[in-house]
Amino acid sequence: MMGEESHHLNIELVVLATSNEDCAISVADHVMLGAANDESALWALSQETDVLTFDHELVDLDVLARLETQGVTLRPSSSSLRYSVDKSYQRERFAAAGFPLPGFAVLRDANDLAVLEGWTSRFGSGPVLKAARGGYDGRGVLFPKDDDEARNLARELLASGTVVVEERMLLQSEVSQLVVRSVRGEMELYPLVTTVQSDGMCAEVRFPCELPPSLHAFADELSRDIAEAIGLVGVMAVEYFVTTGGLLINELALRPHNSGHWTIEGCATSQFANHLRAVTGQDLGACTPLYPAAVMVNVVGAQSPGSLDAARRVPGVRVHDYGKAWRPGRKLGHVTAFGDHVDELHVTAWQSARAYGTNTQEA
Ligand code: ADP
Repeated sequence: MMGEESHHLNIELVVLATSNEDCAISVADHVMLGAANDESALWALSQETDVLTFDHELVDLDVLARLETQGVTLRPSSSSLRYSVDKSYQRERFAAAGFPLPGFAVLRDANDLAVLEGWTSRFGSGPVLKAARGGYDGRGVLFPKDDDEARNLARELLASGTVVVEERMLLQSEVSQLVVRSVRGEMELYPLVTTVQSDGMCAEVRFPCELPPSLHAFADELSRDIAEAIGLVGVMAVEYFVTTGGLLINELALRPHNSGHWTIEGCATSQFANHLRAVTGQDLGACTPLYPAAVMVNVVGAQSPGSLDAARRVPGVRVHDYGKAWRPGRKLGHVTAFGDHVDELHVTAWQSARAYGTNTQEA
């Protein structure tokens, strides 16, 4: 999706792909093969380009920092990316900055397991355990029911790295905000959206987000403060928990994000165009919504494929097929409906997603 926008912006796009099957290849001007955490592949890529940017978090921060010292331009920088790649770093730095977070502790080795003693009676429920690095779409996030299970699962997670333990919050809803920041520090904000999760994965995104104006204003200010604090360049999604105590930060993604796919047709400038504008040093485009309401539904492969044509025949829906091979459980595309009322658009978008063949359940 970023590749499609690069052509409208006259940006020459070189994609570092892991294989010839990679769907980004279809929109690339040039392709190089290699892994995103392979220093020599990244070095070779940097020799063909002015700036490197990533569309996922599975990177090696030490490799990136070394490339920067050799003069390679990364946007966002490795020090900004650390906040999205390493959940323990994000939690510790943000706590020190006074940003609103769930209660948490960081476990680095078996000695730290002591923090789990009596957790359930202290907080009223088992904790949430998170691998500090490498998790996505709910993988690496565990919900033990009591202290015994928490200790055992935390021990297993510790075998592969640092673990973040969090208070299990009662969530009224989950919302997300995209902010984009230019090289010169100018910022634009997209409106807050509601994200609906199914099995730890985002199933649906709804705009507008029905929260009191005071929480919209709070999110706007906090998203800006976060972007400033981490020295962001490019697009960032801030995922928030909505609780009785207000908004708490969940996690960050320093790249175009699933919660912003509706901006492709739904806003004056899409998240993909604005990310490219930002990382190539251009002025940002306006984030103004073009419709009163939008609903996006992800298509996650069901056991067998549905019909893309049938999905497209649902009136008023825009269907995006990522061109990936069908595999049950894999994110294969998304559909978006635009109009006046979220409730109606929710029905239309799910009708199309079901025809396409999604296995997620409507929330
Ligand atoms: P990922 O990096 O895999 O997206 P997240 O940290 O966003 O993982 O967690 C996935 C989901 O788990 C969240 O969207 C939320 O529904 C739930 N979750 C995560 N942390 C907590 C928490 N502290 N309290 C309650 N639910 C949580």
